Amino acid sequence: MKRGIFIVLEGPDRSGKSTQAGLLKAWLEKRGLEVMVTREPGGTYLSEKIREILLDPKSDIEPLTELFLYETSRVKHTLEKILPALKAGKVIISDRYTLSTTAYQGYGRGLDLKTVETLNRIATLNLKPDLTIVFDIPDKVFTQREKTRPGRDRIERAPDAFRRRVNRAYKLLARRPGVTRVDGGRSVGEIQADIRTRVEKLLRK
Ligand code: ADP
Repeated sequence: MKRGIFIVLEGPDRSGKSTQAGLLKAWLEKRGLEVMVTREPGGTYLSEKIREILLDPKSDIEPLTELFLYETSRVKHTLEKILPALKAGKVIISDRYTLSTTAYQGYGRGLDLKTVETLNRIATLNLKPDLTIVFDIPDKVFTQREKTRPGRDRIERAPDAFRRRVNRAYKLLARRPGVTRVDGGRSVGEIQADIRTRVEKLLRK
């Protein structure tokens, strides 16, 4: 059966994921591939509604409630969008997936990592990305971007200590099998070149 390719971009907010997703899409399309860019939380009507709740600074959400909201949005996204696109042979580029939940709800909020991983498996129906690219942002660049582009949503407004825990978590998670790290502190072009090399390898498989 013909099967597509599932690529996930991960990293802290403002690490350049959506910038690189757009460039990667254009490059793959030039090569004649059918590409679908999507994001989490979101990607479907219902999942985007859940995203609104999650990012609304007025939402009062406990860590466990937050975990289930992310996973609920993920089930719908996986069933309605990702699995059909894979079956249709498309390249899917998702801005965030399960590793975000491990980083933010596991390491960031301090929820039990085993619980988070179990729910990740259930919510994805065991689907694993073919490649997860983690954008590793040097602390100096991270602080600079926070200052020049302050976040407005509920997660971006979370305490500094929370976001620092998430950043540290990504550095650890980037060492997992199936995960590759890119240095996100460089120019847009340099990062894109790096990503293309990794994706090229995947296309040759
Ligand atoms: P994310 O999707 O991870 O939140 P974005 O792609 O939206 O990140 O980028 C966040 C901001 O940083 C945007 O204003 C973008 O133009 C800028 N940006 C993205 N990549 C780089 C880079 N390599 N160097 C400097 N600024 C960047």
